[in-house]
Amino acid sequence: MPDRIVTCRMTNRHGNRCTAEAIDPNGEVLICIRHYVAVCRTVREAQARVARTAT
Ligand SMILES: [Zn+2]
Repeated sequence: MPDRIVTCRMTNRHGNRCTAEAIDPNGEVLICIRHYVAVCRTVREAQARVARTAT
């Protein structure tokens, strides 16, 4: 097991890598809890937009 911390793979709007620790270092997606919340919010908003245009 590597003892160094696996960090989030997301970048901010300036292209700088996020330095927060990934939720699951062995997970399929390496993101921190903050970016996980941001992704969830983005998906929810996108789905709401699709639902609005579909009806
Ligand atoms: Zn992050």
